[in-house]
Amino acid sequence: MSLASLVLVINCGSSSLKFSVLSPDEDAPLLSGLAEKLGLADACITFKSGADHKTTQSLSEASHHQALRALFARLDDMALLPRLYAIGHRVAHGGRDFQQSVLIDAQVIARIRELSALAPLHNPANLIGIDAAMALLPTLPQVAVFDTAFHQTLSPAAYTYAIPLEYQHNHQVRRYGFHGTSHRFIAAEAVKRLDLDPDDHGILIAHLGNGSSVCAVKNGISVDTSMGMTPLEGLVMGTRCGDLDFGAAAYIARCSGQSFEAVYEMVNNESGLLGISGLSSDCRALQEARRQGDERAALAIEVMVHRLARHLGAHLASLHRFDALIFTGGIGENSALVRELTAQKLAIFGIALDSKKNEYLYGGRDGVISLPGSPLVAVIPTNEEKMIAQDAAAIASTLCAAVSG
Ligand code: ADP
Repeated sequence: MSLASLVLVINCGSSSLKFSVLSPDEDAPLLSGLAEKLGLADACITFKSGADHKTTQSLSEASHHQALRALFARLDDMALLPRLYAIGHRVAHGGRDFQQSVLIDAQVIARIRELSALAPLHNPANLIGIDAAMALLPTLPQVAVFDTAFHQTLSPAAYTYAIPLEYQHNHQVRRYGFHGTSHRFIAAEAVKRLDLDPDDHGILIAHLGNGSSVCAVKNGISVDTSMGMTPLEGLVMGTRCGDLDFGAAAYIARCSGQSFEAVYEMVNNESGLLGISGLSSDCRALQEARRQGDERAALAIEVMVHRLARHLGAHLASLHRFDALIFTGGIGENSALVRELTAQKLAIFGIALDSKKNEYLYGGRDGVISLPGSPLVAVIPTNEEKMIAQDAAAIASTLCAAVSG
């Protein structure tokens, strides 16, 4: 390993900062963690290194900038700071402008700021992380990796909403899709691990976590996805409703006297698994409640699975052939129940699972879970940090080559 071979990956939220320090060739980070409750009295930062080693440090009222300082102090103690050669930032929305990851400069920052109109909860928070990292380590190349970029290959038929086209032309109202970094990582891993023809394959990816989306990938390229202009569209998620008749939303606003903003808040933060179960947004908790006979928990899981199967079936229509269905994300990687129920609904497409193999895969294990004769169904753990690190490393290397050449 060369001296400077590590990438710092930052995923910055409005009051949190998630980080990983890793070599782009390795799956596991050397150090990772989360600074949370930033700006509040009980702000803290947790560092994880190795399999189980975890330490938490209080950061009373710390800003993102101060949280990064604490991280850099820790990296210095571990002699990792001089080994950093790039920083990769997860950025939520790249609009039409960013089809791939880019080196961050003043123009890129200005454009990410303008795109905040499309992602008001995420882009401004991502920029806080970028500003803090640039202020503290100004000489390191910093790279923006967009959640939307992988889906910029969608055709107009797939990304256009059927409303007056002027809204698309004048206000950028169209489908963009998210989780692109995860879908891109899984698409590449699927080709390698399932021995698919890189130039002729069709796969479906179900990324199921707190946020969930489906992606149809044709020969390495995203051709359809379930999230839309915002991450609200599509599947039933932890607290998001996914697809909802706009007429129902308008009716709710009218009959309850709630403002449009209040309804928007409800469909984003009080709906999905939480809204149906009235119990939790967490799939694992709902599986347990279902096991104990809780009817609303059971219904929440049924609705989630029904919607997922419906979207997977619909996304097949965007493929020219069907080689594999991949499950990933916290639920996709761990819930044999959700995979089994979904597969049962997809029997019409010839999908059948080996229940023993399905039960065996959780906690980071990967492999094929389908029976012979079925289209391949596999579990592949996602690794967005690794994908971001690889992009940042590739762009930093090009930069070094350009400077030394
Ligand atoms: P995020 O979208 O925030 O990255 P994750 O990908 O970590 O979220 O997924 C979180 C979801 O995964 C939660 O609903 C959690 O309950 C679910 N999950 C994690 N482990 C299991 C498990 N063993 N069985 C079922 N669901 C699980």
